Amino acid sequence: MNFQTVLNDIYNHVVSVKDKGTIASYIPELAHVDINNFGLHLKIKNGEEYGVGHYNKPFSIQSISKVLALALAASQKGSTILNRLGVEPSGHPFNQLALLEIENGIPRNPFINSGAIVVADILVTLFENPVESFLNYIRDLTGDKNINYNPNIAKSEKESGYRNYATANLLKSFGNLHNSVEEVLDYYFMQCALEMTCEQITKSFHLFANKGKCLFEKTRLTEQQVKRINAIMLTCGFYDEAGEFAFEVGLPGKSGVGGGIVALLPDNYVITTWAPGLNEKGNSKLGMLALEQFTTKTQLSIF
Ligand code: GLN
Repeated sequence: MNFQTVLNDIYNHVVSVKDKGTIASYIPELAHVDINNFGLHLKIKNGEEYGVGHYNKPFSIQSISKVLALALAASQKGSTILNRLGVEPSGHPFNQLALLEIENGIPRNPFINSGAIVVADILVTLFENPVESFLNYIRDLTGDKNINYNPNIAKSEKESGYRNYATANLLKSFGNLHNSVEEVLDYYFMQCALEMTCEQITKSFHLFANKGKCLFEKTRLTEQQVKRINAIMLTCGFYDEAGEFAFEVGLPGKSGVGGGIVALLPDNYVITTWAPGLNEKGNSKLGMLALEQFTTKTQLSIF
């Protein structure tokens, strides 16, 4: 199969779509991005790489960071983290508070904000300087020292992140936040403000398509941990649109409000797309379309 031709065809189709969705503006600093950006990058397990469009332009990875944070926490703490978190899809928006109150401060899963804030709390306990440790982890996974945070985006979210403060306070009131709200959210906002290109994200997710071994064949997670994290991506990676993503695309993956989506076929490939316009559920509109086209054209999905 000529993957470059497949990617080029998808690019030509997707950029011609008129309704590109809406850029997230609840974090004011995110709203400055040009909606016409579109990038797609594919890396096959045998090493072949293909890219089209703006696949080398850094963007705010936002919730995609939740998977990498979970991987780092799981590599240090194993399944004990599941004492403080569930693994069921929420069927609700990523920043919903009601479910957390009803379920006594145990987040449904690590990819809604409440769950990601518990994972952030675990990392804040584990590391003296979690901001630095998380960055080093990502740089090690990719072998790329150029990856960095955008502190302006973290600051912008800190100034406007009322729902995340409410969530962290609710977790604290149930005893499911061990460090201070301030300390955990300062770390969490930086984690979400990591900037990466499609190519860098593809490389950082290689371990999930390679039984826990990163790009440099170093074991970062056990096979069982990878199986479980991939399962959580499939069932919880797209907020209240996880069913739709499985239906249309058929891969485990994760989206972020910066407009990125990463998805993978275990033992086969990782693909990342970036298009900043979101649909009403908060997932990249053209990114979902591009990935649907990819698995339809190549027949390479888990189903
Ligand atoms: N930092 C964002 C938030 O907490 C991440 C949300 C997302 O990408 N879905 O609201």
